[in-house]
Amino acid sequence: MMAHGQFLLKVEGLTVSFDGFKAVDNLSFYVEPNECRVIIGPNGAGKTTVLDLICGRTKATDGSVKFKNHELLKMREDQIVHAGVGRKFQTPSVYEDLSVFENLEISFPKGHSVFGALSFRRTVDVTARIQEIAETIFLADLLAEKAAFLSHGQKQWLEIGMLLIQDPELLMLDEPVAGMSVAERKKTAELLNRIIQDRSVIVIEHDMGFVADIATRVNVLHQGKMLSEGSMAHVQADPKVIEVYLGH
Ligand code: ADP
Ligand code: MG
Repeated sequence: MMAHGQFLLKVEGLTVSFDGFKAVDNLSFYVEPNECRVIIGPNGAGKTTVLDLICGRTKATDGSVKFKNHELLKMREDQIVHAGVGRKFQTPSVYEDLSVFENLEISFPKGHSVFGALSFRRTVDVTARIQEIAETIFLADLLAEKAAFLSHGQKQWLEIGMLLIQDPELLMLDEPVAGMSVAERKKTAELLNRIIQDRSVIVIEHDMGFVADIATRVNVLHQGKMLSEGSMAHVQADPKVIEVYLGH
C-alpha cells in the first residue's frame, strides 16, 4: 500500500440514496496511479451508479471522492472532466456522419488562442496527436472512414480514443467489451494494458476472462456495498463472492 497522499482517487463513505433505497452504501476504495481497477458484481449491484457519482452525473448523499486531493463531489460534471476524469458510457456515442479523423478532431480539448501564426502550429500538433491516438486504438488505416461504417467494436475503440485525446489521468469505462468478438476483446485488453502506462482506468466488466487479462485489482460490489477487494485470484477464492456472485 502506498501512503495515502499518493493515491490518484480516494473514495470514502460514498453513499447515494434514491427515495430511501441506498444504491451505493458507504463505499470506500483507493486507486493508485497506473492502475486498472475492475468493478464487478451482479446486475443492480450499483456499479454504474458509482461511476455516475464520481463523474458528477448523480449527486451523492454522503461521503467523499478525492481526485488528486480535489473534492469531486463539490464540482460540476464539466469541471470534473476538466480536472482530468474521462467517462465512457455503455453504448458508444460517436458521430456516425463524421470520419474517424473528424471524431477525434472535435474531441481535442479547445485551447484559447488559435489565431494567426499559432493556428498553423496548432493544426500540425493536433494532426500528429490524432495520428498517434488512431494507432493506439487500432484505427490508423481507417482515419478517412465514416464512423457509421465501423464495426461495433471499432466504434467502442473510437470512443475510447475520443476520451484519450483529452489526456485524462483517470478514465472510467462501463462495460467496454460488451458485444465485442473474442478477437476484439483481446485487442481491447492490449489497449487497456497500454493506456495504463500513462493513466489509471476504472472498468466495469462481466467477462471474467477479460477481467483476468486487465485487472491490477478487483472490487466486488453487492447491493451497493463492497463485498470483496483484491487480486482476481483473491476475489475468486473469497467464499462471500462465490456465494453471491460467481457461484451462480
Ligand atoms: P449495475 O450497474 O451494477 O447493474 P446500477 O448502478 O445501474 O447497477 O443500479 C443500482 C441500483 O440503483 C438499481 O436497483 C437501480 O434500479 C437503482 N438506480 C440507479 N439509478 C437510479 C436512479 N437515478 N433513481 C432510482 N434508482 C436508481
Ligand atoms: Mg451498469
